Amino acid sequence: MPAAKIYYDADANVSCIKGKKIVFLGFGNQGAAQAQNIRDSGIPNEDILIANREDAYAEDARQRGFTVTDDFESAAKVADVLFLLIPDQVQPRVFNERFVPTLKEGCTIVVASGYNVFYKLLNIHPTSNVVMVAPRMIGSSVRSLYEKGKGFPCFVSCEQDATGNALEIALAISYAIGATKAGAIESSVREETAMDLFAEQALWPNIIVLFQQAFSVLKDAGCSDEALCYEMWMSKEPAEIFERAAEEGFISQLKHHSTVSQYGQLSGSLRLDGSALRKHFEDILHNQVLNGKFCKEFSKIEEDLEKKGDENPLEQLYKKAEASELGQAEARVRSRLQSSS
Ligand code: NDP
Repeated sequence: MPAAKIYYDADANVSCIKGKKIVFLGFGNQGAAQAQNIRDSGIPNEDILIANREDAYAEDARQRGFTVTDDFESAAKVADVLFLLIPDQVQPRVFNERFVPTLKEGCTIVVASGYNVFYKLLNIHPTSNVVMVAPRMIGSSVRSLYEKGKGFPCFVSCEQDATGNALEIALAISYAIGATKAGAIESSVREETAMDLFAEQALWPNIIVLFQQAFSVLKDAGCSDEALCYEMWMSKEPAEIFERAAEEGFISQLKHHSTVSQYGQLSGSLRLDGSALRKHFEDILHNQVLNGKFCKEFSKIEEDLEKKGDENPLEQLYKKAEASELGQAEARVRSRLQSSS
């Protein structure tokens, strides 16, 4: 694989989105941050339109001086650039039913996650551009880093080029939201989706189970719930380790640990045989993520996620996780800490 291109401010020509109507569908985490950043980068307020249902998000956008509409069909008619910044699971329904029928020819659709484009859940017309500008940051950081004059990591790609300048538009957007300051990395919806879903369905589930099993083994050996919770995560030591890994290096951060710890971690990891884990990871990546199996499974339960209580599949999963030995122990420890404070 050749090294990915990294685009900086100098690669962007923001004039290609000036004078265009920019519509944000959604004013939540990413929508609020990106709309404000774009305005502060010199896109006139009158060229920005927020499409949102009439509620607290709409009110927030108005308070910040934006024009807001809940008439999505009319917003689609005027959009030269359309940001899809509502939750991934509702995007297909809202976009396909309320934007596609009246969408202007040559409109550039901007996604901040590869999911719906990779799994072909959006009914994209051949006359539309499709680009991905996907910050690797939560919305509040997208805004606060911009305000501090700093950039943030972001993936950028051109997925469908109907007008011949879709990549130029994607780079102008990346610049205007403040991403090219730190370098926007060339990617694709396939790569973004593969990495995102792999982390969510392979890496982090293993980390959850790793912590649960470690907790159980140490508890059986006589360690208290209180000591274990603090030792394993409540002290924030793991958070600090990851912060140093991001700043200094995944391996080099080990140098901050004691010599006993460094020796134990390096010799222990080199002794472990990761081949079974690798097989498991490959299975999840190819037979669950890339082949669309998870997407089909998730589509089936997606509408139930709006239900309340036990009928909501996510609530059921939370209940099971909270009933685990680790979950129960943490609840006991936290209630004791609260009652003594
Ligand atoms: P949010 O959960 O913050 O979205 C909230 C917005 O979506 C509100 O404007 C809300 O308005 C609107 N919305 C929710 N449901 C509906 C609906 N059924 N119909 C119309 N509007 C709806 O989204 P995020 O900002 O978290 O995510 C947006 C995109 O950004 C996603 O593609 C996500 O993957 C991506 N992303 C998110 C990151 C994050 O930090 N959260 C990081 C990087 C990318 P209302 O409910 O009033 O209609």
